[in-house]
Amino acid sequence: MKRLLYTIWICCIMVLCCGCDNGQIQAPRRYMDTAMGTVISQSIYCPGEEGARNFTNRSMALLRELEQEMLSRRLETSELFRINASAGSQEGCQISLELFRLLQECTELSQASEGAFEITLGELVELWNIDQWAVGEPEQEKPAFSQEEILRVRDLCGYYRMKLESKEEYRIFLPEGMSLDLGAVGKGYALDRMRTILEEEEEITGAILSVGGNVLTYGRKPDGSSWKVGIVNPFEISSNIGVLSLEGQWCVSTSGDYERYVEVEGVRYHHILDPATGYPARSGVRSVTILSENGMQGDALSTACFILGPEKGMALAATYGVQALFILEDGQLVLSEGMERYWSESEQ
Ligand code: ADP
Ligand code: MG
Repeated sequence: MKRLLYTIWICCIMVLCCGCDNGQIQAPRRYMDTAMGTVISQSIYCPGEEGARNFTNRSMALLRELEQEMLSRRLETSELFRINASAGSQEGCQISLELFRLLQECTELSQASEGAFEITLGELVELWNIDQWAVGEPEQEKPAFSQEEILRVRDLCGYYRMKLESKEEYRIFLPEGMSLDLGAVGKGYALDRMRTILEEEEEITGAILSVGGNVLTYGRKPDGSSWKVGIVNPFEISSNIGVLSLEGQWCVSTSGDYERYVEVEGVRYHHILDPATGYPARSGVRSVTILSENGMQGDALSTACFILGPEKGMALAATYGVQALFILEDGQLVLSEGMERYWSESEQ
């Protein structure tokens, strides 16, 4: 519950989709709901109520289906649950073409990021107990395990040890002890799927959607102004450090150390893990924002770039043709050239 309330707040800060309410100009229709363990906010420009309602009904059904049938690690109904339960078996696990493609793309991202992005670290996520950390509420309890335990569990990970097979059907084989976690891509992937529904609803002229802080902009506002997406200030998370002004169709994905963490004796343990060490990444970065056309890629790259740090991260972003913004521990902002075009810093 606390996590949801906190996320509602962060979403409100991030999405400054200001519609004009001055009579002549159509205001957006706003909807808030929860799915995939997070807050979904949708602002839709559509002349008729029905078109917007159709869309939100379809999009919420889609998100619930994605969670229940594909992405959840906890629900026994999901493909991911079945995959993880099959680890170590000879016959592996049969999966849908959709998930097969998503996992293939994850493998490419792991290769491109030299293993920084690593969906096979499910057991490490379990060990750190990340899902239990209340968002925005650092507990003071020390994680109760040893370095040996961390290294032992880290050694269970490695995308190159997971095997994908496509013959008459699609299968995946995980070695004993390995499990997958799609927490770093699920929300971005969901936005890609929501965009497809938007395209089908012809009445909708513009929309700005947020799935737990990952934002999709679509079409245009009736008054012709740009979409405004606020970027949280990691040093003062109740405010924005700046705003992206965007035209048309974009995905904005941010990974930060303030989203979910515990603090022990002045050390912050956050939820973005470095597969090389088994510990939360220490790359001198507080947050990374990726601006991309593809939501799944943007989501994965924001996580990977956080771990890689600004130099390697910028190079990775460039190979994917996406824009990046790094906020460093010393307060410095590092922006890719393309990002500068959309960025304006908040006045302090
Ligand atoms: P958020 O989900 O808060 O927006 P991210 O997109 O960066 O943040 O995803 C972080 C989540 O991804 C973690 O909670 C964990 O489930 C998973 N994760 C952590 N480290 C990695 C990593 N190196 N590669 C892939 N997934 C990771
Ligand atoms: Mg991510």
